[in-house]
Amino acid sequence: MATRINGAAFAADLRQRIGKSVTTLIDHYDLKPGLAVVLVGEDPASQVYVRNKGKQTVAAGMHSIEYTLSADTSQTELLTLIDKLNNDPAINGILVQLPLPSQIEESRVINAISVEKDVDGFHIENVGKLFIGEDSMVPCTPAGCVMLLKEQMGNLSGKNAVIVGRSNIVGKPVAMLLLKEHCTVTLAHSRTQHLDAVCREADILIAAVGVPRLIKGDWIKPGAVVIDVGINRIVAEDGQAQLVGDVDYAAAQSVAEAITPVPGGVGPMTIACLLRNTVIAACRQNNVAIPDEILG
Ligand code: NDP
Repeated sequence: MATRINGAAFAADLRQRIGKSVTTLIDHYDLKPGLAVVLVGEDPASQVYVRNKGKQTVAAGMHSIEYTLSADTSQTELLTLIDKLNNDPAINGILVQLPLPSQIEESRVINAISVEKDVDGFHIENVGKLFIGEDSMVPCTPAGCVMLLKEQMGNLSGKNAVIVGRSNIVGKPVAMLLLKEHCTVTLAHSRTQHLDAVCREADILIAAVGVPRLIKGDWIKPGAVVIDVGINRIVAEDGQAQLVGDVDYAAAQSVAEAITPVPGGVGPMTIACLLRNTVIAACRQNNVAIPDEILG
């Protein structure tokens, strides 16, 4: 039976270490990291994410500010707010919750955030730095995946990693991070032929697709470590709403060495990594060493 990789517990530990590092920054440098989260529109799922981010930021001892703008906000109005936050020394990290309404060009807004405050790691300069292996602000979900893998496997060097999904927010950045760890990386997608056979080659299999239970048990190499990023809402046989991943968890359990559950796997790591990025951003902006508790 596969080990259940407990992302929720790992994230709770990381948040505790972040809290300690914040105390150190306040006590020694009078530096309280601040995160601004901007939501445009009333999407209920986004509202829940934003609320959780705010709560966890405050719980870690940081300054949190939320902006909720109406769905008909213009691009100019949003860019004016970003400019104000870029120039606010109490704010070290800025996150604009995606997706944005259609009248607003996402890339225009993301690239207007100061590179140093781009705690989502989506600014084109941070993307480029990640691509060439320079220190950058690393996107939160990919960073969380790699932390869980290292915790489970230790050294990842030389492992065959297959990532299913090539989005800019998960698949591509996680591929770059695993290359940096010296994995041999395959990036699969909707046009990949013989996806089952490609997956069977993986020592590390990461599913970031958005198709419920796409990855079957017999697509998994015995002993592989599986990270399931997918979050899919389905209606179960009993008529109840249920959250499932992109991997058939029950079938995978008897083949894999270890697997992340959904929920309670990658999801909690995403917010913890956002808080970590905010602390890192605050340190870099103030020329302060990043506390040991959150390094590594
Ligand atoms: P996108 O929709 O942006 O990308 C999906 C990718 O999957 C695309 O590259 C697409 O290929 C590929 N794909 C789609 N169908 C298939 C298929 N049948 N076979 C192989 N590949 C396929 O999704 P995201 O990357 O944004 O998100 C992926 C999942 O991860 C979602 O369930 C999302 O909710 C979840 N997620 C979870 C997070 C967390 O915190 N845990 C954070 C972010 C996302 P192509 O490029 O060819 O179209």
